This record gives sequence, C-alpha cells and structure tokens, in this order.
Amino acid sequence: MTLSQPGPIRALVDGSLQTLWPAVCAACDRPVADEALFCAPCNLSINPLVGVCPGCALPAGPTPGEGPAWLRPGASPGRCRTCRRVPFPFVGATGGFEYGEALAEALMRMKHGGRRYLARRLARLLVQPLAEALARGQLAATDAVVAVPLHAHKLRARGFNQALELARWALVGLSRAPSLRPPAGLPRLERHLLHRARPTRELGHAGPAARLAEVAGAFVVSDTARVRGRRVLLVDDVFTTGATFSECAAALLHAGAAAVHVLALARAV
Ligand SMILES: [Zn+2]
Ligand SMILES: [Zn+2]
Repeated sequence: MTLSQPGPIRALVDGSLQTLWPAVCAACDRPVADEALFCAPCNLSINPLVGVCPGCALPAGPTPGEGPAWLRPGASPGRCRTCRRVPFPFVGATGGFEYGEALAEALMRMKHGGRRYLARRLARLLVQPLAEALARGQLAATDAVVAVPLHAHKLRARGFNQALELARWALVGLSRAPSLRPPAGLPRLERHLLHRARPTRELGHAGPAARLAEVAGAFVVSDTARVRGRRVLLVDDVFTTGATFSECAAALLHAGAAAVHVLALARAV
C-alpha cells in the first residue's frame, strides 16, 4: 500500500474511526450493526412514501371514477383533489419518507443538537428519492439543485444549513451510484442563488395560511441571469405544508426559472 492509493488508506482510517466510535443509531444512540442508520426499534417508524400524489407527495386516495385500478401495483397515481383544486407553484414534489418518530428525532438532533455529521449519514436516505426527482423533473447537467436557504442569523447560530448538507451529500452519493445516476448528467448544486431576505419564525403546528403569511416575500434570487431558463430542484429536510417551498418556487419562477420541482427527505403526512 502506498500513499498514492487513497482507497485502502481511507478504508484504514474509516476502520479505525469505526473502532473508536462504533456506529450508533441516528435517532437514539443505541449501537447498530455495520452501516445501519437506525436501530431495529427506531427502524419501525421509517416508512418510505409510496403511491403518493406527484404534486404534493402525500398519500393520495383513489380518485372518484378511477376505481381500484389506481391501487394496482405499479399504477402511477394522479394528482390528489387538493392539488387539482389549488396547485402548488412547483410542478411536482418528491418525498423520501414519512416524517415519523425516528426520522424527526434524527433531524432534530442534527439541526438543534449540533450534530452536523448526521447530515451526511441521513443523506444516504435521500439518494434514491433524489434520483427519482431528477428523472421526474427531467433535470440535466445544465440545470440546478438549490437548497432552501436559512436566514444569515440562523445560519451563523447553527453553523450549517441542513438542507444544503443533505442536498450536497445526496448528490455525492448519487454520483457514486452508477445504477441510479441520470444519463443526462447531474445538475449543479447552486449554493448562493436563493436567499432568505428576512428571518422567519418556525411555526410548529400552524396551518398553511399562517405559514404562508410568515414566509410571504421572504426569499430572493441574487442573480437572475443564473436562474433564467434553468430547471430547478429545490431541496429541504422536511415538507410540512409546502408554504416555504411555494415561496421559494415563486421567487425562482419570478427570476425566470423554467420549472421548479421540490424534494424533501421527510414529508409530514
Ligand atoms: Zn434507535
Ligand atoms: Zn397532491
């Protein structure tokens, strides 16, 4: 082994780190086997989203008149009634998992417990949903992935933007997964395109109207020339009511984006 062989060296370093810090569950710190993210009890609350509405990523009931055909395995569901009545400004939404117990806990520990390293681990869950979102939105190498931004004050306090970390590591994961990598190439992660111009409060269990009012006009695009004509995939950790995604999408579309799709690791259902 020589120093010009990063693979074995990295494996060696990773191996010793593993010995020093044995793998633990991202939600509760119980020891876990090998590369597992969650321990067995926590894993019970990790539910991938399947058969969801392509407009809002919520489990959609069968549309009247379409009957049980919708429920056939492999059938792609249509938009839910809410999306047909009041469409979001973004074209489509992809969610990874239900915003359940363990995932909520892991995200909270990452964001509010100063555990930035969890972003890299949790991003593993986002690789496949990212591949799906890019395919659905037909994003190519010239298009853009944009993380929902934090306000500068919050960014300073937290030290990192969880959405950006998740997007960054999921893109790295996808670039290393030949079976999932889109043939048109990976779009670029654009870090400084979208800004939160004023601080907004986190509204806990507030409904869509209150949330929309809180974030109205909060986002601005710094360089419209870099947005014009590009398709954008917006990434966040959690999709709650879609108010933040909607405001970000509106700002990007106003700046000339060709289309906006959104992707969240967790979807509040
Ligand atoms: Zn656990
Ligand atoms: Zn919907």
